[in-house]
Amino acid sequence: MDGVAVEVASISGVVRGVLARARADGEGDAGRVDAVREAIVEVGRAAQALQGMLLALVGEGDRLGIARGGVGPWLATVLDVTEGRARALAHDARLLARLPRVEAELCSGVIGPDSARALARTVKAVRATGLDPAEEAAKTLEVTREHGARAGLERVRVLEEQIKPGSIEARHARERERSFARFTTCGDGQMHRCEILLDPVRGAVFQAAIDLQVAEMIRTRQYDGGEIVPQDVRTTEQMNAEAVTRLAQVFLDATPEQRRAHFSLPALAVTLENPAAHLGAMRDPAAHVAGVKDPAVHADIPVGCARTVFGALVPAGRLPRRGDPRRHVLVTDGCTGSFDGVAVDGDPRARLASPGQRAFLGWRDRHCTYPGCDRPLTFALHAHHVVPFAQGGGTSVGNLRLYCTEHHTTVHQER
Ligand SMILES: [Zn+2]
Repeated sequence: MDGVAVEVASISGVVRGVLARARADGEGDAGRVDAVREAIVEVGRAAQALQGMLLALVGEGDRLGIARGGVGPWLATVLDVTEGRARALAHDARLLARLPRVEAELCSGVIGPDSARALARTVKAVRATGLDPAEEAAKTLEVTREHGARAGLERVRVLEEQIKPGSIEARHARERERSFARFTTCGDGQMHRCEILLDPVRGAVFQAAIDLQVAEMIRTRQYDGGEIVPQDVRTTEQMNAEAVTRLAQVFLDATPEQRRAHFSLPALAVTLENPAAHLGAMRDPAAHVAGVKDPAVHADIPVGCARTVFGALVPAGRLPRRGDPRRHVLVTDGCTGSFDGVAVDGDPRARLASPGQRAFLGWRDRHCTYPGCDRPLTFALHAHHVVPFAQGGGTSVGNLRLYCTEHHTTVHQER
């Protein structure tokens, strides 16, 4: 099999030649683009062909019993693949070995890894049924040829459900488990990053809400505003950013009954504005400078600016205006403060932290305060009584700390 290595070396030489020409000065841009594009298609098809040949060989190797512990684990020792990937490859190869008729296509480069997967799954689905694997695989292949690999996998999904009702339900349960939404900050902690992976049902609800809003924005811009929206992906994504925010705003604006969330704290609008101007009215600021814990957070806020409750410095004009019911203002000297003009520690005998106290704690603690934990501020963090309420500990910000769900439990167990 020296021939294969020689061929690969010769392909590698050709590819490096294309790369060198593409990077060289003097070559026309159009020429480079065409050359690189063409090379990607050719090398991609060659890679598909090699992958198909690998599957055919592994299938045969499995039949011949070339490795004692199984061909999958062995593959992981000779190729740069994880054991999981190697086992999956061996598994598919074993299934495809039952389809001698597709071998030629597998080795030709027209079948990519996803279509190969669809064929293997077809064989697996019809096992122990009266259906003919070769015939069903031929149908899958026909679908992938006409409509692409995704349609082929879709056909297999339908087939699996027909043979074994409930498989789509099981898949959906797995997809629900894999779903998550993660909120972090980036860019000096000023930008909010939201990564959301959703199962198809929740994803459809979310996407439909976004799409409805974007459709409305496009309608008003295109027809009412007389502006033609450029067919530009970035513009669509920028509109999505506005739509996601509006989705949240509509929720925050709804009554507690409508949103079925009685705890009330409109996060966006909570601001700390120019505390120096307010402190005089509240207390003598000079008396409380000693209580300041974190000078960075307490640094003066420039005129015309405000801090969101998540800590970012923003133009005050971007937040709800004075008189808007969504506007909430936290004024603090670092130890205590006022929320919308009411002292945050107004009622130390209340059982739970008030919205004003939650705003203060979010602003002061920023994240879970358990040592080493930096789960970021969300209003799902728990307000914990340092001296237990039952032992006379008051509900005042001096006696409250934010913990994530996990560490709130830990703190109580440690006690
Ligand atoms: Zn924590």
